[in-house]
Amino acid sequence: MRNLLLFVIIACLIASPAEQVIAIEEPVPPSIELRILETTDLHSYMMDYDYRNNKETVEFGFARTASVIKEARKEAKNVLLFDNGDLIQGSALAELASKTYQFDQSFIHPAFKALNRLQYDGATLGNHEFNFGLDFLQTSLRGADFPYVNANIYVEDHNLHAFDDINYFNPYMILDKRFTDTMGVEQNVKVGVIGLITPIAAKWDEEHFKGKIKIKSMVSTLKHFIPIMKSEGADIIIVLAHAGLAADEGVVNKSENSVMALTEVEGIDAILYGHSHSLFPNDDYFLQQQFINIEKGTIRSIPLVQAGYWGNHLGIIDLSIRKVNDKWKVVDSRSEVRSIYKKSGKDEKVPVVQPDEEIIDALRNDHSNTLEYVKNNKE
Ligand SMILES: [Zn+2]
Repeated sequence: MRNLLLFVIIACLIASPAEQVIAIEEPVPPSIELRILETTDLHSYMMDYDYRNNKETVEFGFARTASVIKEARKEAKNVLLFDNGDLIQGSALAELASKTYQFDQSFIHPAFKALNRLQYDGATLGNHEFNFGLDFLQTSLRGADFPYVNANIYVEDHNLHAFDDINYFNPYMILDKRFTDTMGVEQNVKVGVIGLITPIAAKWDEEHFKGKIKIKSMVSTLKHFIPIMKSEGADIIIVLAHAGLAADEGVVNKSENSVMALTEVEGIDAILYGHSHSLFPNDDYFLQQQFINIEKGTIRSIPLVQAGYWGNHLGIIDLSIRKVNDKWKVVDSRSEVRSIYKKSGKDEKVPVVQPDEEIIDALRNDHSNTLEYVKNNKE
């Protein structure tokens, strides 16, 4: 045993200089740490204010989410930020916007006044985006400083053929990004981003959809577009899905229209989702299923995140990407949801960040107009 140990030590000493030379000559494959941030279901709760109960709150409001976004950005070299929809409807701030936009030539939806300060990379639409009609939606979207994608809403062409169907929105985008790898070298990565919505939206807002637009299955839409995105050079594919983990009641083709079903489609690297106001990863009992890894926040090895509602959480997916055979490949991931408050003592909620001053400033007028609007509507 002793002799063997001695032999191993000598062998190592002899071998090590040569090995070192080889190690220097061999190129290290570059690897990138990419952080993806998600807000979802903000429902125009932009301020740290509860309009229904007429008081300040620490439990929701994008003003605090913005502070968490800024902190999360500081911790990483490469960051992308997306919103997952249900943005322009919900709070009294949004209600007032829907009633006044036609009379305001320079209208910018207050939700965009806030989000535009955070340099979003893109967003997708939620079902509530359609609540006030297509005119309000289109007018509002013009105020966004970042691109919107949705791949499964189509123009209603009154026939059953698929070949002549035309997307109502831009279905996907391929972002040409320059990321810094772990050795400090800049690398070009093409990030494909595609948006999807739960088909129930067409039923819930039938008056705004009927005869104008239609929604197709999420799974078949993905299967159609992912190969196209890959052929256009997308190195990684991020799906923004405004749909819950389980499909909505009353959706045709239920099996094709849940986030769960999306994880079975080839070629996806990350899924950001929303709509059901839940958190993922969390430790809810119903999520303890075989193919869900709650520790890492994956389903069938695909990283997912869902960031609650009204800005109460920020969703984060950290991806490790490595160049394998000249192609970028996601080799590891970790998902988390970060709350804007923490619980202390008996049900007391304590803020973990202060509201972001930039957001408060951007919405000063809209907020005071909303307070006035709420007051007048109560009387
Ligand atoms: Zn929704």
